[in-house]
Amino acid sequence: MLKGKILVLGELTPPYHKSSTGDDTVLLIREPGVLKPSQLITRVKSDPLIKGVICPLGQEVNSRVLGSLSQLRVISNIAVGVNNIDIEAAKRQGVRVAHTPEVLTAATADLAWALLLGGARRLVEGDHLARSGQWGGWEMNQLLGQSVGRYLSYDIEGEDESKSKDESKSEDESGQGVRSIQNTLGVIGLGEIGKAIARRAQGFEMRVVYHNRTRKNKLEREYAWEYMSLDDVLRESDYVVLALALTPETRHSITRERLSLMKSSAFLVNIGRGALIDEEALIEALESGHLSGAALDVYEREPLIPDRLRALERVTLSPHLGSATVAARRAMSHLAIESAVSVIQGGRLRGRFVV
Ligand code: NAP
Repeated sequence: MLKGKILVLGELTPPYHKSSTGDDTVLLIREPGVLKPSQLITRVKSDPLIKGVICPLGQEVNSRVLGSLSQLRVISNIAVGVNNIDIEAAKRQGVRVAHTPEVLTAATADLAWALLLGGARRLVEGDHLARSGQWGGWEMNQLLGQSVGRYLSYDIEGEDESKSKDESKSEDESGQGVRSIQNTLGVIGLGEIGKAIARRAQGFEMRVVYHNRTRKNKLEREYAWEYMSLDDVLRESDYVVLALALTPETRHSITRERLSLMKSSAFLVNIGRGALIDEEALIEALESGHLSGAALDVYEREPLIPDRLRALERVTLSPHLGSATVAARRAMSHLAIESAVSVIQGGRLRGRFVV
């Protein structure tokens, strides 16, 4: 017997269907994409059997939606972050909110590193040059980027990107001072993804400093990660990665003043949410050359990416691809369905829920 329908807004990544629903008690029906809140209300009301919605993070589910739809039992977000949903309103209305943590952690941490490495080593600029037909062959000073992993350098007078970094000194056979220099990675937000990003830094022999609402003493002991205030992470780091959830408390964590604390050689990566940073202030910091570069997967008003940001050369932009691997998207689809279906079937809940 049909117990209810779930409205799926946009695509899922198959295969997922049979293994998730398992029987014919719950039917998935589709809309091609996200809807305005008023359209979502109208669509759900058009069919009293719709008891659940599976949606991507671009779907706003505000208090008006939740207050208007007493038939709804579950919103299942195909994302770990739930900043598009009014959680307090969901609680008030007794609507379950599901999300897809953990199955996207590795993919998103990998993308953070892809952005960091690609940005530091000017991979996108290099790709453009290689395709342009203008490349004239290997050149000594072409597209020089920044070191990421531990590296060796000689004591050379003048400009040196290694100044103020952690270093150990030794001498080579000619008696010249050789310095082994370590970059510092600053992770802001040491949740599942932040931890996975920090763990990956071990292979690059980087020093890891972090800031998080909750201090992680066990991880500090296990990996020699150093806890610092947010301002100190910004001051100390050569690379800063933002991996925080977006909440009213974390919105604009990175202000103009905080950007000014960063080293002028520092590089900023954001895979959390765009509004964690004051985007206008970031653009100004990049335009003025205060930051050496940035690599962004997320933006304050997606899908809008400001023209001034797109015009900057030392900025790598990806279109919110954090979890975009086949494996992660399949697992997210499966989990989103599993959670929504289990609410409507009743009995023991399966899946992952915020409330
Ligand atoms: P998670 O394990 O739940 O970690 C959430 C992080 O945000 C933790 O560091 C947590 O600190 C912090 N946080 C939450 N609420 C806070 C508050 N009110 N004040 C200060 N800090 C707060 O989630 P995750 O899997 O690591 O994902 C983190 C975020 O990455 C997601 O929320 C999402 O926005 C983003 N993300 C982006 C992509 C992408 O495609 N670019 C993909 C996946 C996720 P505590 O440890 O103290 O709780």
